[in-house]
Amino acid sequence: MRISDALATQRPFFSFEFFPPKDEEGSRRLVETIEALQPLRPAFVSITYGAGGSTRARTLALAKEIGQHIGLTVVAHVTCIGADRTQLRELFDDLARAGIENVLALRGDPPAGARFEPAPGGFAHAAELIGMLRRNYGFCIGAACYPEKHPEAATLDEDLRNLKRKADAGADFLISQLFFDNEHFFEFDRRARAAGIELPILPGLMPITNFAQIQRFVAMCGASIPPKLRVEMEARKGDVKAVEDLGVAYASMQALGLLQAGVPGIHFYTLNRSPATRAIVSSLLAASAWRPVFAPNITIR
Ligand SMILES: Cc1cc2nc3c(=O)[nH]c(=O)nc-3n(C[C@H](O)[C@H](O)[C@H](O)COP(=O)(O)OP(=O)(O)OC[C@H]3O[C@@H](n4cnc5c(N)ncnc54)[C@H](O)[C@@H]3O)c2cc1C
Repeated sequence: MRISDALATQRPFFSFEFFPPKDEEGSRRLVETIEALQPLRPAFVSITYGAGGSTRARTLALAKEIGQHIGLTVVAHVTCIGADRTQLRELFDDLARAGIENVLALRGDPPAGARFEPAPGGFAHAAELIGMLRRNYGFCIGAACYPEKHPEAATLDEDLRNLKRKADAGADFLISQLFFDNEHFFEFDRRARAAGIELPILPGLMPITNFAQIQRFVAMCGASIPPKLRVEMEARKGDVKAVEDLGVAYASMQALGLLQAGVPGIHFYTLNRSPATRAIVSSLLAASAWRPVFAPNITIR
């Protein structure tokens, strides 16, 4: 199913991000994770593309496996880093042949400490990749957005001008970077609409299961951790279960607030593990407090 069709018919929905496993053990764990999450009927699952384009074959194989054999709707991530136009066309031809209907078109990140340099004959920005996809392929196209701005952008307004280029180039929907304060998302959504961006925006949530790991992620992606959450996490340092419990409770409250505000769906960064995401989505499905009748006066498209 195309994500644009799912967005038109299934709102609100849940979706899950997985990464291609590196080894047998990782593959076994991912199969277990998918089996545990499939009964929650995700609208789609997305498969990441390794740093520097390093998982091209594994991303394609996993997207194919999940789409063709497990029967879930798949969004294949693709980055333009380190690839020229011909190589990208080969990849998109392979994805199309495999029956993949949705891609998340990204620029990708350079290795830590380096500046992004487009490959010779490649693309400098995701908007250029999106334009090429729109002109040559029939995929439903997603793009990334950043409620607290992309780390390389000087200001949120500058980043929003560049996000508008992705919308104008032909993106169909947006998935946000992770964030831990819904106010950042609401403000971002308001400013994106004011900048003329009308695409559906799926907020991305990552339940905290390991605080040290999350601190590394936020340092890389420029998201922030609210001081109160940080204090509570620090207080549970050394107690793995207590950290996980708080992570699940916190992400559930975040998700509830977002759904009450009318977001089209919530995208979970699962890190290939099911328990936290399963607990959160199960509780949301069991509750009805987020259904539109209870929504406050915030309108999110
Ligand atoms: C939901 C999501 C999924 C992701 N999945 C992956 C993945 O699978 N694999 C992976 O390697 N990475 C992934 N990333 C990370 C992503 O590759 C990085 O954040 C990367 O640094 C930017 O990608 P982009 O597509 O947003 O780039 P762009 O939209 O090109 O933006 C990158 C920077 O360039 C600026 N910019 C854009 N256009 C212009 C222009 N015309 N002129 C000047 N400046 C411009 C933007 O403001 C921004 O600062 C993901 C990110 C998100 C939010």
